[in-house]
Amino acid sequence: MGKIYQNPNQLMLQDVLEYYQIDKLDWLSYQITKGNILTLHHIIKQADGGPLTIDNSAPLTKKSHRALHICESKDNVLYSEINKFFLRVIAYRLALADLEAKMELNDEFRRESKEYKLALTKTLYK
Ligand SMILES: [Zn+2]
Repeated sequence: MGKIYQNPNQLMLQDVLEYYQIDKLDWLSYQITKGNILTLHHIIKQADGGPLTIDNSAPLTKKSHRALHICESKDNVLYSEINKFFLRVIAYRLALADLEAKMELNDEFRRESKEYKLALTKTLYK
């Protein structure tokens, strides 16, 4: 389940940020920049009982996070597909001993992530 945080968003984000640098890509393949900083998306919402742990969080930049929640209202099927993708990434990470090193997506997940970014972008202009 992972560490539970007292001041969740801020502390978790600090932990996550340790593994990411400016210019890398988030889990929806948006570039992390000083103007497009990293945030945490809670896959199962707090309101629905989702825990405030890294294992329930996807690191998304401000832009992709906003796009994802616009998608939530426009195409709920795509929204839940993307969340299932995040859960698969997390399940994969949990199966590995070296969790921290695997915040970065591997090539296969990265390909999928880029497909979701494309689908997401199309949905925004619907
Ligand atoms: Zn969110």
